[in-house]
Amino acid sequence: MSTDKNCLFCKIIRREIPADFVYEDDEIVAFRDINPQAPVHNLFVPRRHIESANALTEEDAALMGRLVLAARGHAAEQGFADSGFRLVMNTNAHGCQTVFHMHLHLLGGGQLAGGFGATR
Ligand code: AMP
Ligand code: ZN
Repeated sequence: MSTDKNCLFCKIIRREIPADFVYEDDEIVAFRDINPQAPVHNLFVPRRHIESANALTEEDAALMGRLVLAARGHAAEQGFADSGFRLVMNTNAHGCQTVFHMHLHLLGGGQLAGGFGATR
């Protein structure tokens, strides 16, 4: 399993930095975002260090499917899948990615603001 010594999310996955975990399996962990933008804001993160969506290959297709299913499963468990939620994957500078270990934001648990944060 590839891990990065200096990566924040690898450190969380290795339990070197604390986080509030809400989901774990062999390939994926999820924990609460430290700066929540919704009543529920969790990050679904592959255990393997993958920098961004740009580093994904065909071999990651099943893993990405399981990442979405894990997030949707959590929304269902928490009781807000039907009322709705948002999945977001920021990528590189224009996408405002700040942690370069790719992750899926799950936002939900209440009405979210519309729009995508585009500048025009
Ligand atoms: P992004 O900007 O899409 O790369 O998302 C990175 C997210 O990680 C942001 O929403 C941050 O609030 C969140 N974050 C940063 N540090 C931590 C941490 N130590 N524990 C949990 N979430 C964090
Ligand atoms: Zn990492």
